Amino acid sequence: MIYIKTREEIELMREAALCVSKTLGMIAGELKEGVELKKLDKLAEEFIRDMGGIPSFKGYPDNKPGSFPATLCLSLNDAVVHGIPDSRVVKDGDVLSVDCGVIKNGFHGDHAYTFCIGNVKPEVRKMVEVTKECLYKGIEQVTANNRIGDIGFAIQQHAEKHGYGVVRELVGHGLGRSLHEDPQVPNYGRRGTGPKLRDGMVIAIEPMINMGKKEVRTASNGWDIITKDGLPSAHFEHDVAMIDGKAEILSTFDYVYEALGIKK
Ligand code: MG
Ligand code: MG
Repeated sequence: MIYIKTREEIELMREAALCVSKTLGMIAGELKEGVELKKLDKLAEEFIRDMGGIPSFKGYPDNKPGSFPATLCLSLNDAVVHGIPDSRVVKDGDVLSVDCGVIKNGFHGDHAYTFCIGNVKPEVRKMVEVTKECLYKGIEQVTANNRIGDIGFAIQQHAEKHGYGVVRELVGHGLGRSLHEDPQVPNYGRRGTGPKLRDGMVIAIEPMINMGKKEVRTASNGWDIITKDGLPSAHFEHDVAMIDGKAEILSTFDYVYEALGIKK
């Protein structure tokens, strides 16, 4: 069932999304060659709790053994998503997807950015850029006359035009009082299919694009989703509400851009 949010609820969700955006900005400032993934995770948890937020991912889904153990999903190189922060350190030439969820005001924010560290190969950097473009191509489709399938169609077209693989096993999702609500928002699809987009819907759009083939598998730690061909992957995510028939992005990359000195 799709939960439609009121304008007031969307404003509360914007605050949750902003907590995540600020956390990604803080991480952007700490991300350097030699930093340990676990350290980034610890910094993020402290930062979120200082803002009065609760990490969404820690203990997901049910706090039982085997639940996700950390605040951030840190997915390095051939990891697509759901990477567990461990004792690995970031190296020159790495790409790292940082995905973060925060509960604030009883609502979840869920937002991700893929960082290039140091001298990343131009073809890898290009794949990361195109994945970010895919995110905005998807967001453009959030209009009153469209359906969920239009989002996936736009993302898939753009990724495949560049010869990249679009992950099928994991998808975007509705967002609200639960981290994953209906509808599912695939990064592939056909025009004019799926649920109709309506005012008050809030969805997480999150293209997961592989430089090589689309196939993925689960790593031995039970969480990291990695590419089967071992080639790198990228992942960007925004929280998007539909208001008056138009997309309103609740999360922002501004804090990341500020930390990285990127002018928009
Ligand atoms: Mg996420
Ligand atoms: Mg998500």
